[in-house]
Amino acid sequence: MTEKVIIIGSGPAGWASAIYSARAALQPLVFEGAITEENRLAGTLPLGQLALTTEVENYPGFPAGDLSAYLANAIAEDKRRLMAPPSKEGATGPELMELMRQQAVNFGTRIITEDIVDVDFNTQPFKLTASDGKIYESHAVIVATGARANYLGLPSEEKYKNRGVSACAVCDGALPRFRNRPLAVVGGGDSAVEEADYLSKFASTVYMIHRRDQLRASKIMAKRAMDNPKIQVLWNTTLAEVLGNDKDGVTGVRLQSTAGGPDVVKDVTGVFMAIGHTPNAAFLKNKLALTEKKYIRWTTPARTYTSVEGVFAAGDVADDYYRQAITAAGSGCMAALDAERWLAAKGL
Ligand SMILES: Cc1cc2nc3c(=O)[nH]c(=O)nc-3n(C[C@H](O)[C@H](O)[C@H](O)COP(=O)(O)OP(=O)(O)OC[C@H]3O[C@@H](n4cnc5c(N)ncnc54)[C@H](O)[C@@H]3O)c2cc1C
Repeated sequence: MTEKVIIIGSGPAGWASAIYSARAALQPLVFEGAITEENRLAGTLPLGQLALTTEVENYPGFPAGDLSAYLANAIAEDKRRLMAPPSKEGATGPELMELMRQQAVNFGTRIITEDIVDVDFNTQPFKLTASDGKIYESHAVIVATGARANYLGLPSEEKYKNRGVSACAVCDGALPRFRNRPLAVVGGGDSAVEEADYLSKFASTVYMIHRRDQLRASKIMAKRAMDNPKIQVLWNTTLAEVLGNDKDGVTGVRLQSTAGGPDVVKDVTGVFMAIGHTPNAAFLKNKLALTEKKYIRWTTPARTYTSVEGVFAAGDVADDYYRQAITAAGSGCMAALDAERWLAAKGL
C-alpha cells in the first residue's frame, strides 16, 4: 500500500505535522522511533527532546496550574499509568508530548514504533526502510527527526540532568533554582556566549568554562562576553566533575586545568552545556542536501521544502537557530500544509 504522507519523528514537529495531515484527510503514518538502548543513550527515544525535561514554562497555553483532571481524561489510561503523577506547576515535557501524540491519534494518525534507517528518494513513490527491515512507500515524506544536545559524557553530568545540568538556557534559565545564583556554561563558541549572556539576566555570576586561552566565538560575540560584568571566563579549564547531592542537585563543579594548574572547585547551582547539537540526519546523508553543520537544508525561504520535491523538513533537524518546541511545532504545521498542497497539485 502506498501512503500519502509518512512522517519521520515524534517531537513537537512530528506530532504537529500529524495533527494537520490527519485533519486534511491524508491518513498520516508516523514513525516515532524505536525503543532501544542506543536511542536511550543518545537521547532520541520516542517523544523527542521535550520528553527529557521537567517543567515547560514557555509553551503557550500551559500556564502553571494543576493539570491532573485534564490529563486524566485527555490521555489514554495505558499511557497515563507509565507517566509520573502530574505536578501542580503546569505541564511537564513528557505530559506535553503525550498530549500531542494523543491529539494526533484522536484524528486517526497511525504510529509505528520503529526508526527509519534508510530512504530512497530517487523513485516516486519514495521508499523508506524501517529498523524492523520492512519497506514502506509514500508519495510525500515529512522529516521531523530533531536534533540532540551534545554532552561531555561524564557520569556526574548524566546523574544531575534536570537537577541542575541543562543544555538549554532559554528553556531552563528562568527556573527558580538558577535565579541569583552562580552558574557555569561549558563551551567557547558563539552559542556558549549566547547561553552565558542569556543566563546573566538571572544568575549572580556566569562562569564560562573554556579549554583554550581565547574564545572560539566570533569577535563580536567574544566582545559581548568580555563586556558583560556578570560573565567570568575561566580560561584553560575543562569540566572534570559535576558536584552535588540527592537533596539539592548540582552544588558545584570541579575544574581541571589544561595548562597544568591544580583542580579548582566553584560553587554553582547549574551547569549549562553549550558544546553544540547533532541533528538526527545521518540516515539522510547523500539523500537530501544538508547544511555545513549537517542539518537538512530548507531550499525556499518561509517554506519547508527540501532539495527533493515531495520531501519536507520540520523542526530542529532543519533549524539550528531557534530550537524551541513552539518553533518546531510551527514548522511541523507548515510542512503538513506544504505536503497537502504539493499532493493536491500532483493529483495524488
Ligand atoms: C533538556 C531540554 C529541555 C528543553 N526545554 C525546552 C523548553 O522548556 N521549552 C521549549 O520550547 N523547548 C525546550 N527544549 C527544546 C525542544 O525540546 C526542541 O526544540 C524540540 O523538542 C524540537 O522538536 P522536534 O520535533 O524538532 O524534534 P525532537 O524533539 O528532537 O524529536 C525528534 C524525535 O524523532 C525521533 N527520531 C529521530 N530519528 C528518527 C528516525 N530515523 N526514525 C524515526 N524517528 C526518529 C526521535 O524519537 C527523536 O527524539 C528543550 C530541549 C532539551 C534537550
